[in-house]
Amino acid sequence: MVKARKYVVKKHFQGVPKKEDFELVEHELPPLKDGEILVKAEWISVDPYLRAYNANVPVPYDQFSYQVGLVKDSKDPNYPVGSRLVSHKGWCDYAIVKDEEMPNPAERIYKLPDLKGLPPSLCVGAIGMPGLTAYFGFLEICKPKAGETVVVSGAAGAVGSLVGQIAKIQGCKVIGFAGSDDKVTWLEKELGFDKGLNYKTGDVTKALKEAAPKGIDCYFDNVGGELSSIIINQMNAKGRVSVCGSISSYNDDPTKLPKATLLQPALVFKRLTIQGFIIWDYKPQWEEGLVKLVEWVKSGQLKAKEHVTEGFENLFDAFIGMLAGENYGKAVVKV
Ligand code: NDP
Repeated sequence: MVKARKYVVKKHFQGVPKKEDFELVEHELPPLKDGEILVKAEWISVDPYLRAYNANVPVPYDQFSYQVGLVKDSKDPNYPVGSRLVSHKGWCDYAIVKDEEMPNPAERIYKLPDLKGLPPSLCVGAIGMPGLTAYFGFLEICKPKAGETVVVSGAAGAVGSLVGQIAKIQGCKVIGFAGSDDKVTWLEKELGFDKGLNYKTGDVTKALKEAAPKGIDCYFDNVGGELSSIIINQMNAKGRVSVCGSISSYNDDPTKLPKATLLQPALVFKRLTIQGFIIWDYKPQWEEGLVKLVEWVKSGQLKAKEHVTEGFENLFDAFIGMLAGENYGKAVVKV
């Protein structure tokens, strides 16, 4: 018998999630049946969608997210003891998983790709769901061309920091918005963004006009709200907007969401294309995306910064810290 611990969400979050919304539950795992695998979590992800999806899931539920686990026992010859896998088992230290079709394809376990010596933690970050989000969400929807101007919001986070770097690989000029001057410096000095802007200070409309005097061709939107309206209203004819998320309102009351400046005039007169996506739609192409991401990280073209919190007991703090903007790059918990 293996003793396991997991975080159960007991209450729907109101505003910023609270510690009392979760319960840490200890339970015993049953012996493995045919095809089952016992994994010990090594790296657990904390992401904005854990907040965004909360209202739609009936409580109580086990807190989901991606994790990298080490196989401790196995009745599936494809996953031998000592190998590693990615699952969507989330905030638990031990779990039993099975490689089978799931109603939600995102929940199917998979083996780590050939990391060519890169660390397994990246499989919940740059070489996992967030990396694939940047790769497909930007390239497939924005269809950037060399020489174009790209703006990314949430630019210092897991997805945004990769989008900006991928845009540089494509030969674009890149402007990133982030929530502190230190983050802005990091974007410019470490990640090679052409310009970083702090969305919390100064006149954002004016600063963006100065940074992008020829207008904006592609916008990768992680945050939504008024910042996105300002950016979209400065776009060039035939510009493309990829809507990835709207973290600026995830902690708001869904019945009283903030209003932002109208977009329709810009959409019409500039003939803009605006498209949302969910990364799970690209699941059939994940393998191909992972190969490319490994190549870019390995060659140093893509810097995969991680913001590591140590300890299973600190998952909640890591989650809240990420929502508050503590992370540079991918927020992840080392178990
Ligand atoms: P991040 O690593 O970017 O972490 C969240 C960041 O959001 C924080 O670091 C903070 O940075 C920023 N933030 C917090 N509050 C606000 C606010 N009020 N206004 C603007 N920025 C804020 O998370 P991810 O990279 O994992 O996710 C980024 C976005 O992508 C989210 O909207 C998420 O929901 C979305 N997403 C969508 C997917 C899809 O399939 N469509 C898949 C994965 C992610 P700062 O200091 O700059 O404020």
